[in-house]
Amino acid sequence: MNWEIPIAERCRKIDASGIRKVFELAAQRRAQGADLVDFSIGQPDFPVPDPIKNAAIQAIQADRNSYTMTQGIGELRGKISQQYKERFGIEPDGVMITSGVSGGLVLMFLATCQPGDEVIIVDPYFVMYKHLVTLAGATSVIVDSYPDFKLPIDKIARAITPRTKILMINSPSNPTGCVYDEKELKAAAELARKHNLLLVSDEIYRQLAYDGDVASVVKFAPERTLLLDGYSKNLALTGWRLGYAVGPKPLIEQMSKLQQYTFVCAPSFAQYAAMEMDSCDLESKVADYRRRRNLIYDGLKERFKIVKPTGGFYIFPEAPGGDAKAFVEKALAKDVLIIPGNVFSERNTHFRISYARDEATIRKGIERLNDLAKSF
Ligand code: PLP
Repeated sequence: MNWEIPIAERCRKIDASGIRKVFELAAQRRAQGADLVDFSIGQPDFPVPDPIKNAAIQAIQADRNSYTMTQGIGELRGKISQQYKERFGIEPDGVMITSGVSGGLVLMFLATCQPGDEVIIVDPYFVMYKHLVTLAGATSVIVDSYPDFKLPIDKIARAITPRTKILMINSPSNPTGCVYDEKELKAAAELARKHNLLLVSDEIYRQLAYDGDVASVVKFAPERTLLLDGYSKNLALTGWRLGYAVGPKPLIEQMSKLQQYTFVCAPSFAQYAAMEMDSCDLESKVADYRRRRNLIYDGLKERFKIVKPTGGFYIFPEAPGGDAKAFVEKALAKDVLIIPGNVFSERNTHFRISYARDEATIRKGIERLNDLAKSF
């Protein structure tokens, strides 16, 4: 009998082919024994710090393996509240622990968006935003921030309609590594207040900052900002799935309600382990990443048009020849794996490098990319 698996329309609207093709080509090169410089990986290359590992092991052995409260353990929520208070000088309204920032994003979009709603996303953007908006049945309104990747306030203002509900802000940004300054964020807050928008501030790379502290839009509009952050990038525990959301209580309550029927709670051992975050030495990691940022930027800036990144571990150069997909395939033939910009953008003009790699690998990659650029 002919039977077709029922696949929902929302899945058909999501396309994963761009990045899959690059990974398939890379797998072929690897199988051929190539010495591949892999600049594709969006996660830290340092291990989870020992105090966190030990606390996780202890939590598991002490049988703290059950479901936690939906919104997360009180100790960790208390710690996050304290940090928020120290940073912004105000008490947070609502706090919950999520399964990574990804979990927070899923809950936030499901809690806020419905068909007809519009969400403003600054291009280039973190891949998940656009697809989650689609999943929630809403519409992404993409606003271009090329070539300098500053927050395009005027363009955002022009993109706002009576249907606009949310403005997404991601600083430091994946994929550009750029950080918005206070002036830009203040203008975004004013715009949000004028048009009654929710601001969602994804600050997952906040602690990986190389030229001073990262500003937050929370400072300018705490009453309408949902802050999303987590421990994947600063503590390198990407596989443990731990993040948090801080913001208006009515929103956090709805997100908690949805968490109850979806993720249930964030992994218990990870929540207990994160309590040890103060015993971790992040400074030396940041110094390390700063050196690598300098290395890759200085190494490529003569032959590539690049905006110097100031946070995270990505750099987003323009592809010589103007066609990023074609450039990425040529780079792969030279055994460098990079991600074409169209994965993060409506444009196909740039490519993303993750420089969370050791310095020898970065040097090798720079040499190969510069070699390739000479032929354009
Ligand atoms: N937000 C941004 C901007 C990211 O780059 C990532 C991961 O790459 C995430 C969210 C998801 O992070 P998590 O591992 O906490 O789900």
